[in-house]
Amino acid sequence: MRIDDSLSSHFRLTDSQKSACDTLGIRTVHDLLFHFPSRYEEGGNESTISGLASGMEASIIGVLEKLETKKSWKRKIPVSEGYVCDQTGRIKVMWFNQPYIAKMYADGVHVRATGKITGSSGKLYLANPHLERISPTESSLFEKKTADKKEERELFAIYPESRGITSLWFRHAIQKVLTSEIMGPLKDPIPADLLKRYNLPTLKTALVWVHTPQRLRDAEAARKRFAFQEVFLIQLELGRERQAQLKEQSFTIDSPIEDIERFMGAFPFKATQAQKRAISTILGDMKSGLPMSRLLEGDVGSGKTAVAATVAYSVVHTRPLGQNYGTLQAAYMAPTEILAKQHFESFIAYFKQFPINIGLITGSGCYKFPSKLSREKATPISRAQLLKWVANGEIPVLIGTHTLIQKSVRWKHLALVIIDEQHRFGTNQRRLLTRKEIRLPHLLSMTATPIPRTLALTIYGDLDLTLLDEMPPGRKPIITEIIKPEDRLRAYEKIRKELQAGRQAYIICPRIDEPDPEKAFALIAKSVKAEAKRLKKDIFPEYIIGILHAKMKTAEKDAVMRAFSLHETDILVATSVVEVGINIPNATVIMIEGAERFGLSQLHQLRGRVVRSNHQAYCFVCSETRGQVSLTRLKSLITAKNGFELAEQDLMQRGPGELSGRKQWGISDIGMEALRNLKLVEAARSEALELIQHDEKLAHHPLLLEALKRRLGAMHLE
Ligand code: ADP
Ligand code: MG
Repeated sequence: MRIDDSLSSHFRLTDSQKSACDTLGIRTVHDLLFHFPSRYEEGGNESTISGLASGMEASIIGVLEKLETKKSWKRKIPVSEGYVCDQTGRIKVMWFNQPYIAKMYADGVHVRATGKITGSSGKLYLANPHLERISPTESSLFEKKTADKKEERELFAIYPESRGITSLWFRHAIQKVLTSEIMGPLKDPIPADLLKRYNLPTLKTALVWVHTPQRLRDAEAARKRFAFQEVFLIQLELGRERQAQLKEQSFTIDSPIEDIERFMGAFPFKATQAQKRAISTILGDMKSGLPMSRLLEGDVGSGKTAVAATVAYSVVHTRPLGQNYGTLQAAYMAPTEILAKQHFESFIAYFKQFPINIGLITGSGCYKFPSKLSREKATPISRAQLLKWVANGEIPVLIGTHTLIQKSVRWKHLALVIIDEQHRFGTNQRRLLTRKEIRLPHLLSMTATPIPRTLALTIYGDLDLTLLDEMPPGRKPIITEIIKPEDRLRAYEKIRKELQAGRQAYIICPRIDEPDPEKAFALIAKSVKAEAKRLKKDIFPEYIIGILHAKMKTAEKDAVMRAFSLHETDILVATSVVEVGINIPNATVIMIEGAERFGLSQLHQLRGRVVRSNHQAYCFVCSETRGQVSLTRLKSLITAKNGFELAEQDLMQRGPGELSGRKQWGISDIGMEALRNLKLVEAARSEALELIQHDEKLAHHPLLLEALKRRLGAMHLE
């Protein structure tokens, strides 16, 4: 066996196991060895079926019977069902929309089923349980253990859930690898002095400990080592990226200060000190001709768009090197169409008095400002026409969604890329935007997402940071109240007062935790519709109510947002789709239903929707539970100083898995574990930067270089 051998050359895999491994990105023996358990279970914690009661979280061991898949006639989704039997009885198990379950398991198979017991006594069942195949001997082992209680309990690694493959299979397969000849020559990429300094186990020890720990403490030490390794590799990569950027040429942008002042003088407000500072820092970066990589971080409503517009103005006011005609160009990328359109409209307002063309490109259409007929209006144009004008430089500012970075978009002189609410965008992606021989555009990333410091260091380690830590003047701090069920009517009256004063309100319906995403979407849509109906009928008959949820088509969503922004509707009942960036200054109150289902920083983002003007804003946080823990958690919305504090609390209380946006960061589950540990992240970072200083090319650390390549390779394959 060799480490890079394909899995199938050493293991006989069924088709479903093969496709499961493919989905998990496990192709080689190496991938298998580095596929880590998500948790560990002690044998002997199982319940007997006769001892089950509704509401229990339980694990049962037994034999599967009468497994079959039917189509539910009501919802037209497949339902697999059957029974698990042990010596004390049997219980029904069912899975919605997972038809492969019946294919993966057969009658008579020994399993451990884990999940929540539902139903009434006599008619108990397990819905969507986590199923794990165990061998008959393991099964009898468990029985014996349960019998003679708390003896030495064995630890069992449980691997991340996936269709078609079981933890049992992984345990056997990995055991085979761990005892094979490949372990001998396996070399540790982390230098020995680092391991020693941070008291981390060597690679070989850690691999054994992570997969087959004798004690939980060993598993934890191993996981810490792999978390350190991952953050260390990420930091090496960021450090190298940074060095590479500094060697590239960018555009020198040096606008006369009077021009900038004239531009800012046309704002309908006076810029805050923080905005002025940010603008001058960014202009300072771009003066040097070295590629800027800066992150502008500011709470919702702190006025990032005005900063972006000013910086873009400076760029599109600059002639390309050695030319006395034409201008440099700027791209502004937003995460959604709604936001792209909103930025387009803001930019039109900021640029109205200046002779500059602005384009908008989204999946559903293209626009250009100004139109031929009027300096006030934008006009729809064809995509081909827009792309032509971008390519020849006639449109210097282009705003859009990720369609902006498609190959078909060609630029004449792209000098600045502004990214709103995007998480990572390195040299490589920047390169994709322009031709190879051209200079690297400057990058300004903007975010309102308050993230914990460990995460910021890990994913933004190569960016310079500017904070917009000041709200425009006159903004009154938002009044946040936790609303218990009995306070609800009082809250509605407060909302009515705002509506009577001519303001508007958001009412947010919660995310619904439902294992089947199709059903979850349907439920959410239903709850939004039902809530809107109820409000119209019982609470706010005199007002016009709009609805917005993720199941609607883009055009419908846009129409709803437009109606709300024109104040054609008074109340918008919505899901958290309104979370990012929507700006409607006349909306001054937001009510969030089922708030305990949201993370704190998400609640903070939602509340940011209504701090857009000088009116007093209100946020009513409705909680259905009376649990003390959940109320205390929600109260920190009132006491926390800012979004960062809330993000830290989310991380500590709900764990890194709850941080939204994690998919795009390319950090594994074990790497995410590091985020609770600031010391570890800081150590990995400073060690990585130190190492890069002495050995940028990693010429003296070939094992690290190899590990880095493996990591990047794996990320590209995904
Ligand atoms: P965000 O930082 O969330 O992107 P925006 O740029 O959308 O914030 O600005 C929020 C609102 O505040 C907009 O209506 C904008 O016109 C206004 N605004 C921005 N800067 C100032 C300022 N210095 N004084 C007053 N209002 C401002
Ligand atoms: Mg914004």
